[in-house]
This record gives sequence, C-alpha cells and structure tokens, in this order.
Amino acid sequence: NVNKNTLLVTGGAGFIGSALIRQLINETDFTVINIDKLTYAGNLESLSEIDASPNYHFEQADICDAEAMDRIFTQYQPSAMMHLAAESHVDRSIDGPADFVQTNVVGTYILLEAARKYWKTLSADDAEKFRFHHISTDEVYGTLGETGLFTETTPYQPNSPYSATKAGSDHLVRAWHHTYGLPVLMTNCSNNYGPYQFPEKLIPVVINNALAGKPLPIYGKGENIRDWLYVDDHARALRLVLAEGKLCESYNVGGFNEHTNLEVVQLICQILDELLPDSPHRPHKNLIEFVTDRPGHDARYAIDASKIERELGWKPQETFATGLRKTVQWYLDNRKWCENVMDGSYQQQRLGLGDNK
Ligand code: NAD
Repeated sequence: NVNKNTLLVTGGAGFIGSALIRQLINETDFTVINIDKLTYAGNLESLSEIDASPNYHFEQADICDAEAMDRIFTQYQPSAMMHLAAESHVDRSIDGPADFVQTNVVGTYILLEAARKYWKTLSADDAEKFRFHHISTDEVYGTLGETGLFTETTPYQPNSPYSATKAGSDHLVRAWHHTYGLPVLMTNCSNNYGPYQFPEKLIPVVINNALAGKPLPIYGKGENIRDWLYVDDHARALRLVLAEGKLCESYNVGGFNEHTNLEVVQLICQILDELLPDSPHRPHKNLIEFVTDRPGHDARYAIDASKIERELGWKPQETFATGLRKTVQWYLDNRKWCENVMDGSYQQQRLGLGDNK
C-alpha cells in the first residue's frame, strides 16, 4: 500500500532540491526520501537544519542504477516523486557533455521505468493519485530576441548540451504519459538564486570573489538577460504544482525579473558596499572584469509565468531586490559553508562520513 504523503525527491542535496526539502520538512508533514549520488554539486551540509527529522531519509544512489531505483520504490512505497537530480552547469556541459547525457537523459529514462513498474503494482485509486513531477528549465526553449516571453507552447530549441539533455528528458516524461499513461507533471523554471547555491554559478561566484577582493568575471559585455527567481519561491511553486497541477501539463515558473548580467553584478556590488562599509574592496564594482564570452551563449531568457499564477494562484514572495539582499546576507553569515565547498571538505560525505540516514 502506498505510504500517503511520502515523497521521493531526487537531487535533494543540490541547490534547489535542498531548498525544497528544507521547506517540506519545516512546513509540512510529508516524509521525504532524498535520492542523491552526491556528485561535486551535492552537499549534505545544505540539509543539516533538517537531517535529524524522523520524516527525512537519505539514500545515496545514482538515478542511472535501475536496481537501486526499483529497490527504493519498493521499500518506501511513495505517493509521488519529484525529480530534480541533474547535471546542471552549462559551462561544464560544454567542456564534458557525457555526464549530462548520462544523468539527464539516461537517468530520467531509468527513473521513468522504475516509476512505471512501481505504479503498475498500485491499486486503481493509488495509481490515479500517484505523480511523477519532472523539474526542468526554461533553457529548453532556446533564446529570445529583445521582446517576447517563453510560454508553455513555445517550441523547444535548446542550444547548449545542458539544455538539449534537459529537453530530451522533458520529451521522455511527456511520452511516458502519452504512451503508458504514467501520471506526470512538468515545470520549467527560470534562473534560480538564493542561499546554498554552489559557488560556480554567477551570483555566488560574484559574492565570494568580491569578499576576497578578487576580479568579478562577466561574460562578453554582460548584456545577456536572465529572468531571476528566488529559490524558495521556486520550491513553493513545485509544491503547488504537485498538489494541484493538471495531469501531464507543464507550468512555466519565473519571477518577472529580467536583468542583464552586468546589472546583477552591479546590484550585488551595491549591496556589499552598504553591508560592508569598512571593506577595503569598496566600491566593489571596481573589481568587475569582462571575460571572453561562453560559446553559443543565449542572449535572453524570459518566462511568462501567467499560467501558474492564473490557474494555481502562485505568486513569488520575493522581489529581486529583497531576494538578492537576503542572498548576499546569507553568504556573509555562512562563510563556513562556502569555505567547506571551496576547500573541498564538503566532499568528505562521499566517503561515507556523511549522515547516511
Ligand atoms: P544542482 O547541480 O545544485 O544539484 C543537482 C543534484 O543532483 C546534486 O545534489 C547532485 O549530487 C545530484 N545528482 C547529479 N547526478 C545525479 C545522479 N546521476 N544520481 C543522483 N543524483 C545526482 O542543481 P540545481 O540547480 O539544484 O537544479 C535542480 C534541478 O532543477 C535540475 O534538474 C535543473 O535542471 C533544474 N533547474 C535549475 C535551475 C537553476 O537555476 N539552478 C533553473 C531551472 C531548473
């Protein structure tokens, strides 16, 4: 029998997955099973706030391991699954696409098959209520010119190995519904930012470098536009879609917060100037350095999130100004988390020293 309110969450030691699990454990009575391989991007320290909860369990496993996935479904009898595990960094996908194809495409296929096998064992009532929620990105839509927004019906035109593998996984999920009837949900979200983001992505790189007085690298002229969403607002959207989303529909999630990369970096510099009046690196904007652009760099992403607002009543709680200030403050208050990531000690957990509960 299905364990009601039991969720399998893949990639829960990553940036968005850990935010989602912290919310689920702190704000709901869901039992959460976190399935994570702990690649370089997985960090159990991001879950230290909740890992003692009896409602939280960790399974160190690779989503490409079919046997392990079957065992986990059988053991926990979940009422739903939220699939966030992925290779997620565009630059890494350009240097080495193999892991992206493996985890994002093959891994999603393995999970879909494990979910389908499990789902077929359920009673008609439980099978109808089961959900496979696939978490994806707006990058599958390709790039925009100066105007226009990505809607749920925008054709897929992925440009990087990362977005191509995410697009592939979205298509598999859709096909598993149309072909086999698996009850799926999909969300495509814009760029997330917030606490616990791995310091290889723009916002944490800029904050950490600025604190150390190092150059703040900006691709090209910094004119690329991204649409930013605070990670906890994304997590709330995921919970809402899981609870109320229409079967096999996709929902775009975004904050209506378009900014050029240069604006983002300048805003961070301003916040740091205010929060650190005695810093020797003020004004921090003097640290900005323009570097050779990323090949095939998409010019502009912008999400039309009106469907999730209209149909499910979702609205982001943070503006970019409030969310960015919270984020900078979090990085200032959590130097130990950053230092453990930057000196590699967070990876001790992979050797079995982490909480394997
Ligand atoms: P992340 O890189 O911070 O975390 C990914 C997690 O997945 C890590 O904990 C890693 O250990 C785990 N993982 C990787 N390969 C695995 C495998 N084979 N088996 C099990 N676990 C594995 O990523 P994130 O930024 O938290 O993104 C989470 C999801 O949301 C991804 O699917 C991503 O495509 C999507 N997304 C991200 C953004 C964003 O701005 N970060 C925006 C929209 C959608």
